[in-house]
Amino acid sequence: YHAKEQGNRYLFFNDTMNKQAVKRLQIENLMRYGLKEDQFCVFYQPKMNLKTGELMGMEALVRFITPKKGLISPVQFIPIAEETGQIIEIGEVVLDKACRDVKKWLDKGLFDGRVAVNLSAKQFSLPDLTHRIDKILQKHNLPSYFLELEITEGTVMDDPKDAINIMKALSARGIHLAMDDFGTGYSSLALLKEFPLNTLKIDKAFIDDIGSKRGRNMVDSIVTIAHNLDLDVVAEGVEYSEQIDILNELNCEILQGYHYSKPLSAEQFETFLEKQKGVGKSKLSLVNL
Ligand code: C2E
Ligand code: MG
Ligand code: MG
Ligand code: MG
Repeated sequence: YHAKEQGNRYLFFNDTMNKQAVKRLQIENLMRYGLKEDQFCVFYQPKMNLKTGELMGMEALVRFITPKKGLISPVQFIPIAEETGQIIEIGEVVLDKACRDVKKWLDKGLFDGRVAVNLSAKQFSLPDLTHRIDKILQKHNLPSYFLELEITEGTVMDDPKDAINIMKALSARGIHLAMDDFGTGYSSLALLKEFPLNTLKIDKAFIDDIGSKRGRNMVDSIVTIAHNLDLDVVAEGVEYSEQIDILNELNCEILQGYHYSKPLSAEQFETFLEKQKGVGKSKLSLVNL
């Protein structure tokens, strides 16, 4: 009986592993086909100035829309794309489309800030990374000033010395660098000041917890670190006005989250930009009166 039970458990376990492997392979195949068929597109989420309500920039977020399975979340496919290396091609598609869109909005006079693009660890360690980025910027005739790259602690802590050199090369081009999901990884404070960063992004997990005393103190500490290092600080995943009140008290000036807007398709974001511009204009005309 015991042996049989073990046998069943073995089978069950094996079956679960099997299902996971099949699912993984399925997504890998969907991504390969999706890359060929241009099924990856880019959505944009605004980053807002808390005090002025102005648009400070936006984050480009990849969306994978398949005809059969509909939208597949980045949370599902990015880790697999990292493993298989497909993230390199996907990342280039995102960078290409983000630069194309921002150039269009720049030319229409709708936006003249930066677009932040997430850079995976695999992309970051490509020996020809800067060349690849230069090529895409040139293709769209977009000055590097308009680009910001978001990297995570894991990406730079793998080989910090090497990472500093890569970051310096990007920074020398005028590209801004943001540390994404700050506080969730394992970067060292000693190294933080060595990285040529422009921005710290406080992970949503801390913002979720900002209502508790300890949670608030954590965010307070991160904002203070950022400001002491002369970095901008962005709060991610802001959903409630109560969170905004606390972030205001803590002097966190840039906010991103559903409270302001979910990530929008390029078309929807253009409408958002037109409305923003309207807001700016009416403010100006009030001043002129
Ligand atoms: P991330 O870079 O930290 O991006 C922020 C994520 O939080 C996005 O999820 C965004 O939609 C979500 N978010 C923003 N505000 C709120 C909010 O108020 N509430 C909630 N619940 N969520 C909010 P998304 O688009 O699903 O992306 C998830 C992660 O996938 C990203 O986290 C990033 O790590 C990765 N990712 C997305 N696009 C790319 C890409 O083009 N390249 C790479 N390498 N990674 C990407
Ligand atoms: Mg990000
Ligand atoms: Mg983030
Ligand atoms: Mg995050």
